[in-house]
Amino acid sequence: MVYKPLKLITNSLETKDEHSMALLKKSHGEFVYIGNLFEENNKQRKQLEIAKQRAEESDNLKSAFLANLSHEIRTPMNAIIGFSDLLNDESLNQYDKTEYLDIIRKSGKNLISIIEDLLEMSKIDSQQVIPNYKSLDLDKCISEVYHTNKVTIPKEKNIDFSIIKTTKNVKTNILMDETKLKQILTNLITNAIKFTKQGHINIGYAVNEEAKLIKIWVEDSGLGIDETNIKLIFDRFRRIENDFSIESGGLGLGLSITKAYIELLGGTIDVKSTIGIGSTFSLNIPLVYDTTIPVAVVQKTNHKVERNGHKTILIAEDDDINFLLLEKILQLKKYHTIRAVNGKIAVDICKENPAIDLIFMDIKMPIMNGFEAFQLIRTFNQTIPVIANTAYSSPEDKEKILTAGFTYYLSKPLSKEKIFEVLDLTFGNS
Ligand code: ADP
Repeated sequence: MVYKPLKLITNSLETKDEHSMALLKKSHGEFVYIGNLFEENNKQRKQLEIAKQRAEESDNLKSAFLANLSHEIRTPMNAIIGFSDLLNDESLNQYDKTEYLDIIRKSGKNLISIIEDLLEMSKIDSQQVIPNYKSLDLDKCISEVYHTNKVTIPKEKNIDFSIIKTTKNVKTNILMDETKLKQILTNLITNAIKFTKQGHINIGYAVNEEAKLIKIWVEDSGLGIDETNIKLIFDRFRRIENDFSIESGGLGLGLSITKAYIELLGGTIDVKSTIGIGSTFSLNIPLVYDTTIPVAVVQKTNHKVERNGHKTILIAEDDDINFLLLEKILQLKKYHTIRAVNGKIAVDICKENPAIDLIFMDIKMPIMNGFEAFQLIRTFNQTIPVIANTAYSSPEDKEKILTAGFTYYLSKPLSKEKIFEVLDLTFGNS
């Protein structure tokens, strides 16, 4: 008789499925059903366990990420609020003031980079990031990345940073999304700088015509990553929790964004690392040449060049603080400013004042946005330079603004240097 063991088995499996019960009842002596059912149940239980484990892991990761995010935002906010308060102290000397302002500026930049990483991650998720291929001069691109990152190496770190080029005569018409490539390399170099106290960092590159690959690597003599963690570092929100990474901060998003960008370009990333010796992150990106080789178009304005003239600039900006900042920056070079609080007023002022030399146009404004205002202004004034300044800062937004015909584009937060650079390019002053 099989009834007793059958009952025992079904109980132990906690089977509630009526169909399975019927099969079991029908089977009597046919143990094969019991065996199948047992196997099936076991499989389901394992799958459930794995799913539960994954859900718990993702929950823990989310909590750790939120705690980390909160910390990453609070730290610069604390510095901004604290040092802004201190700046009110009338007895402060110029040296302290400069130091406090420097901290506020750096903290603000830090916050912006957190926001940018979060936005980028959500864009990657919703597949809104599309590569924008153009002809690239790889030598020039690597050199630019090198110089922009070199200046960020803290002076107290004794790091020798160099470029290693192993291919002669790299052609200048490689098809590539330059912005993405620069972001990828900057992320890797920023990490190399972050996790290296002394020694060297190299950015190397080679073009392999036979394999049709561009190889780029970033090598450092830093902290290194152990075998267990190396598998996790490309996962989002993953950070290796050690004293060094706590001290240096970060959201654990940098490498997952980097990997997503590389995959977007059809490439792969690999890492080799030894604790205490250093790490090498290597990329392989498909090599494709641009056979059309577009001719570079230099944008010129008809605006007459005047040196040392006190020019009038219209600032179309609805936000008081952003207006004040731009006004103060322009006053440093003695520009005369007029304000419009929305696009419609900007159009009206522009119509009534043909003497306005240039317009700074915010894009998101009430009543009439910057795009509409710009188009209306162009119907009666085709030559006045109009510079879009906006908090929309992705490469796609930039493309949209430049396609609309704006003379230049500046993304917020506005930097004094960038504003003066654009004004110099427009007016020809130095
Ligand atoms: P985060 O912005 O938090 O640094 P990343 O995704 O850029 O996040 O990096 C994830 C983790 O990988 C870091 O917390 C760090 O522990 C490790 N890591 C990344 N690059 C390096 C490197 N060059 N040397 C040592 N560890 C690194």
